[in-house]
Amino acid sequence: MDVIELAQQRQQEDVDHALQARAPAQPGRTHCANLDCGAPILPVRQRMGAQLCIDCQRASERRAQTCARGAV
Ligand SMILES: [Zn+2]
Repeated sequence: MDVIELAQQRQQEDVDHALQARAPAQPGRTHCANLDCGAPILPVRQRMGAQLCIDCQRASERRAQTCARGAV
């Protein structure tokens, strides 16, 4: 293995580490993403990456289930 191959391997490892470090990724919001709502989001839900308060989250899940059944 020559020097160039070694350098390329190191570079790839750096990229892998950078991607892994970013993976746990997106922290949740402190307040609901619904601008009409804006309710605070519990810290435990923020850590799960929540974007909506519990009420809006439930409402959006209800909508998703309604759509999945094909009802209006
Ligand atoms: Zn909300």
